[in-house]
Amino acid sequence: MTKRDYYEVLGVARGASEADIKKAYRRLAMKYHPDRNPGSKEGENRFKEAKEAYEVLSDAHKRAAYDQFGHAGVDASTTAGARGGAGINPNDVFGDIFGDMFGDIFGGGRRGGRGQRVYRGADLRYELTLDLEQAVFGDTITIRVPALVRCDVCRGSGAKKGSQPQTCSTCGGQGQVRMQQGFFSVQQTCPRCHGSGSVISDPCPKCHGQGRVEERRSLSIKVPPGVDNGDRIRLAGEGEAGPMSGPPGDLYVEISVRPHALFTREGADLACEVPLAFSTAVLGGEVEVPTLDGRVTLKIPAETQTGKVFRLRGKGVKPVRGTGAGDLLCRVEVETPVNLTREQKELLKKFDATVRDGGSKHSPRERSWLDGVRRFFENANT
Ligand SMILES: [Zn+2]
Ligand SMILES: [Zn+2]
Repeated sequence: MTKRDYYEVLGVARGASEADIKKAYRRLAMKYHPDRNPGSKEGENRFKEAKEAYEVLSDAHKRAAYDQFGHAGVDASTTAGARGGAGINPNDVFGDIFGDMFGDIFGGGRRGGRGQRVYRGADLRYELTLDLEQAVFGDTITIRVPALVRCDVCRGSGAKKGSQPQTCSTCGGQGQVRMQQGFFSVQQTCPRCHGSGSVISDPCPKCHGQGRVEERRSLSIKVPPGVDNGDRIRLAGEGEAGPMSGPPGDLYVEISVRPHALFTREGADLACEVPLAFSTAVLGGEVEVPTLDGRVTLKIPAETQTGKVFRLRGKGVKPVRGTGAGDLLCRVEVETPVNLTREQKELLKKFDATVRDGGSKHSPRERSWLDGVRRFFENANT
C-alpha cells in the first residue's frame, strides 16, 4: 500500500511551522478519534495516518529525514519503535487533552532509572492463512514467530555479567545534547549513546550488548469465528522486546483466507454453483447442496432456467463484527448432457421435433431473441 505524503495527510504546506503542524494534527485527531467514530474503519485509518504523520513531522530529525528521503527516510525509525517522548513535552497541551490516547504511540516515553530513556520494541506483523471453515467457525492456532526477545544472560541490560552500563559522559545520561547552530541552540539525540543515556563498555557475550536475542517463539492464537481477509488480531506485548529492557511491541496477526473449492465469500454471504441435470431443470425436483454445516435439500421448481439463484437464509457466515448470519446463494447451472448413446440421441431428436412444432410456447426466450435478431438485420438493410 502506498502511503500518502505526510504534509498532505495533515493538510499543511511543506514549510509549515511546528505550531501549524501541531494545530492541524490536533484538529484531525479530534475529528477522527476512535471514541468519536465507533466502528468506523475509515475514521480509524485516518486517525492512524494522522498520528503517524504527526509523529514524523513533529520531530525535527525525522522531519529532516522525511523531507530529504521521503517515507524511506523515516520508515525504519518509526517501525523500529517509536522513540520515547518523540519530542513531546509533558506540559504540552496534547498530554492534557489526550492523556492515555497517545499512550500507545509515545508509550516508550517513560524514563527508566537514572534518567535513561526507555525504548519500546518494534511491532511485528504475521500473516496467518486460514481455510474458510477456520475463518467461519474460529480456531486456535499455534504459530512460530521469529522475534527479538530479552537476553536472559544480561536480563536485557546488554552489559556483561557483573558489569553495569555506564552513564554516557557525552550527554550526562540525558540522551540529548544541545548543539549551537548559528543563533539557534538545537536539541539533538546524543551521538554517542544514541539517546539511551548509557553506554556499555563490557558487552554481554550472548547478545553483544543489544540486550535482545533472536528467538522463535510458539504462540497460541485464538481466531474468533467470522473473521475475513484483511482482519487483524492484536496480541499486545508479543512483539519485539524493547532494547535496554524497554517494553515490548505488539504482534499483529493479519488474516488471509484460502480460496475454497465450493464456496466464495462476500461479507456475510456465501455463494456456490450447483450443476443441474437438464431433466431436473425441466421437470423440477430436489438436489442436495452443501453448506458449511452439512448438506441440505434444495427444491427445484419445474422450468428452472440456468443462472437462477436460490437463497438459503442464515446459511452464510456470522461476521466477527455485526449482526446475524448471512445467506447461502446457490446459483444453478443447467448442464448439457454428454456421452449420449445412439438411442438417447434418437429420443432427443424426437423430443426436439415435438417442441419445434410448439413454436414460442416451449422456448419463449429463444423466440424473442430470434425476433430481435431478425429486426436487427431488417433495420440494417433499409
Ligand atoms: Zn545479553
Ligand atoms: Zn549520551
